[in-house]
Amino acid sequence: MKKTWKLKPSVLKKLKVAGIVIAVFLVVFSYINSEKNSLKKLGYSNQAISSIVQKWQIGAVKEIGENKTVNAAFESKDYVQDNLQVYKKVTYQKQKDLIKNINKLIKKGYKANEISMILAHGNNEDVSAFAKRKKVKYLEQYFSIPYAKLKNYDRYVAYYDKEREDAETTVLHVNMDFDQEEYTNPIKIDTFSEDVLVNKHRMLTEKFVPKQLKEVPSEYLKNKNDEIMVHQSVLSAFKRMMQEALKDGKHILINSGYRSYQDQLDTMELYREAYGQNYVDNYVAKAGFSEHQTGMSIDVASQDVSIFVESEEYGWMMDHAYEYGFILRYPKSKEEITGYKCEAWHYRYVGIKAAKYIHDHNITYDEYYMMFLEKNS
Ligand SMILES: [Zn+2]
Repeated sequence: MKKTWKLKPSVLKKLKVAGIVIAVFLVVFSYINSEKNSLKKLGYSNQAISSIVQKWQIGAVKEIGENKTVNAAFESKDYVQDNLQVYKKVTYQKQKDLIKNINKLIKKGYKANEISMILAHGNNEDVSAFAKRKKVKYLEQYFSIPYAKLKNYDRYVAYYDKEREDAETTVLHVNMDFDQEEYTNPIKIDTFSEDVLVNKHRMLTEKFVPKQLKEVPSEYLKNKNDEIMVHQSVLSAFKRMMQEALKDGKHILINSGYRSYQDQLDTMELYREAYGQNYVDNYVAKAGFSEHQTGMSIDVASQDVSIFVESEEYGWMMDHAYEYGFILRYPKSKEEITGYKCEAWHYRYVGIKAAKYIHDHNITYDEYYMMFLEKNS
């Protein structure tokens, strides 16, 4: 007897339904997969992509396109759907609480471009603190200046109220701690770098010892018996400068170079005994506050004339030192800024690029450092 396999009509119906479900599932699955791939191509991380899919935001994100802030938003547990259109306009910064802080700043009433400005002027900690305060009044005025610091906002406002300087000067002066008492709560620097800035608000500790100190050969010394050390780049630049000056008939020599922290303590004591505390306070750099501890400074002298400002070498240095990377560190016209009376003989090596900029723009190294070298934190 021939057996025919025939399904019951009800079973057949169930199978058809199952087939349709599987087909739909496959279509959706491959659709999502291809969408995931296109998000990946736009630079979104796997973590961000799964959150984008989960939140049904594939279309919105594809429309936004490549965007690091949006990527960070979808990676973050702080993501807020209503803020997506702001996230996409905020310039990305690598900060731990980026999205959390953006949310807070939106709540305070800042617009995307203002939030970008805020994020660019501080680290995670600075931004977190700033996001807690009420919306500030003079955001753009100060933070359109590249080297303005978020954490100094109140000081800018207070300084302006007192001094009525323009915004750029205000920012520069506050960053230089002009609103603080000299020698009080200075920044303490332990480690050597060639471009280190030392002034009455920034001191070197006992631990700060320059690297690559070289002894100055006696032919470059004013007093042949001195033992003077300077950083090797200072020595090689000085050699070049001295040789060129000689061609012009000027004979420049070195009178002083590196002074250790202990040397400075000893000097202060000597001067105190000889001239009294008042003299020390006015004319002797306090231990740790002398630029000579950097190894990057020299006091120069003329071979033949004992008072340097009366020598031809003085004028030659004023005209040419920057060509060799040296700057007059405490010029007459800048006493207000450097905090030092003019020292016509004290030169700092900063390299040719910086020296030329400082010379051409008639600024001090303090200002140059704040504008270009200080880390924004
Ligand atoms: Zn000096």
